[in-house]
Amino acid sequence: MFSRNYQDILQWINVSDAIGGSAVSCIIELNRDPIIVDISSNIKDLLGYQREDLLDNGISISSYINQEDIKDLYLNIYNTLLLRKKNHTISFRLLCFDGTYKVVDLQYKCIKAKKEDKLLLIGYLLDTTKERSFQKRVDYLTYFDNLTGLVNREKIKIIIDKELQLNIKTQTASALLYLDLNRFKNVNDTLGHDIGDKLLQHVSHRLKSCIKDQDTLARVGDDEFVILLSSLNEKTLYSHVEIIAKRVYKILERPFSIDDNLLHITTSIGVAILGVDGNSSDEILKMADTAMYLAKKDQDNYFRYYQSNMRENAQVNLEVENDLRVAIKEQQFELYYQPQVDVTSDQIIGAEALIRWHHPVKGMISPFKFISIAEETGLIIAISEWVLTESCRRIKELQNEPNCPSSFKKISVNISSKQFAQPSFTADVKKIILKSGIDPSFLELEVTEGALISNLEDAIEKMHILKKLGIKFSIDDFGTGYSSLTYLKKLPIDIIKIDKSFITNMHADHDDKILTQTIIQMSQNLRLGLIAEGVEKVEHLNFLQEKGCESYQGYFFSKPLPFNEFKALLLSNEVEELELLRYTA
Ligand code: C2E
Ligand code: CA
Ligand code: CA
Repeated sequence: MFSRNYQDILQWINVSDAIGGSAVSCIIELNRDPIIVDISSNIKDLLGYQREDLLDNGISISSYINQEDIKDLYLNIYNTLLLRKKNHTISFRLLCFDGTYKVVDLQYKCIKAKKEDKLLLIGYLLDTTKERSFQKRVDYLTYFDNLTGLVNREKIKIIIDKELQLNIKTQTASALLYLDLNRFKNVNDTLGHDIGDKLLQHVSHRLKSCIKDQDTLARVGDDEFVILLSSLNEKTLYSHVEIIAKRVYKILERPFSIDDNLLHITTSIGVAILGVDGNSSDEILKMADTAMYLAKKDQDNYFRYYQSNMRENAQVNLEVENDLRVAIKEQQFELYYQPQVDVTSDQIIGAEALIRWHHPVKGMISPFKFISIAEETGLIIAISEWVLTESCRRIKELQNEPNCPSSFKKISVNISSKQFAQPSFTADVKKIILKSGIDPSFLELEVTEGALISNLEDAIEKMHILKKLGIKFSIDDFGTGYSSLTYLKKLPIDIIKIDKSFITNMHADHDDKILTQTIIQMSQNLRLGLIAEGVEKVEHLNFLQEKGCESYQGYFFSKPLPFNEFKALLLSNEVEELELLRYTA
């Protein structure tokens, strides 16, 4: 995001007015319900309003936008902020003075006004009914593949280089999958180029169905494709790559029916992780290509990491895996509980259950060190079952506690992607709840964006089933994962957990402060609950309070605690409240 002087920004409208042309320049303030700060006078030609009618009238821009387009527009802006994209374009319908709607393109960027601490959107509104510009056609020829309409090698290189920078800024991860079709040459040689071309178009079509909006599919050679998986959560990076690789393999394995020919092909996939296996697009493409060649030679595997971290660490991982098996049998786990607190009243409203492993030799092991291995090996299923059962047991204990304060509403439990993806997930959860005898509304399940997005329809269905029982859902580590927020409106989410990186960096990085503020504003617009993670300092808390974030967790109030310590804190929290009441009475 740029930061500029407020007066300079306002001046920009005059300049663009003087230049003339059909694009309408506008400035919109985003800190609150968005309003128009200034707009060029040619808005009259576009929509029929006088410039003056639109200024200083205190009317939110929502009133000028077609209701069906509002959410998409806000999510798009929000997404641009989160991903720190420089420019963006979105189409939507604007209300004309005569009551009709016109489709416009808004090309915009978000700017910070230095002193005023205002977040502004400046941009151009373009009438999209007008012809597409010549430039777009030129771009198309340079950067796109004519046969499939996908981006080509030149363009994917630019995208990868941008992605490398973005990953550093946003602490996210990305992976590149390099695909080569096996037996494609056979098709071309025996059936001719026409059929070969059609096959490539079908392949491209199927591949598109495997990826999400934020990912990129490119054709980089005759029968070579590349998939860039963007903005992944580091925690779930490898499992996500494997899900997609498998999906790609399976979908291409199905025969293609082309002009009365039934064609069978398979694919080999090489994977390189951005920033780990290389720091430039050339390196990344080369490493993924190398890995792909190794996968091609490998009879047993259709995909291969470039010098996989997992393989390098194979020995260590194997040890952890073996120890985990014992840990499950011998119940070496314990749940700690981190209080979640109301920002204004300081009362404990809930807790997050966090697993701890007491290793008989190595001592306490952090979940960061074993959860991903448990996921890779499938041991997570047994561990998760224990976590959920144990959490429910503690919920029951608190529900039976006569002195449990009424402010206490829930325990939230982390759900791993693999666990969530199990076909039996809803049935398993139901069974545990039934057995425990708890009121299910005291249970919240934390899922990551990755777990939801890898199969959106399935996620929606599962969430609806469990929500019928009264269980709540929150999105964990919000802002670090996919952040393609269009899915938010589809998913029955109750609560957003703002990732701790935003809070931690808030005072060092002004952008993070503004982003946090925007997340708060957005979640209010979308009527979602909100909790900030990683609150360590009083300044963090003050900021959250000022901006209207309702709850938080973090070392400022308490670290995760063993259950008995948590319970004592919870009960004393109530005593203080009673004392306060007594005192004021
Ligand atoms: P998470 O879900 O994002 O959990 C929050 C992590 O931040 C916890 O680390 C917590 O101790 C830490 N934290 C809380 N407040 C602060 C703070 O103010 N400052 C700092 N620097 N850190 C804070 P923890 O307990 O090590 O857990 C790490 C991750 O392991 C969790 O991240 C979660 O993804 C995973 N995990 C933990 N327990 C479970 C579990 O039972 N099941 C599954 N599937 N994953 C779990
Ligand atoms: Ca969590
Ligand atoms: Ca988290």
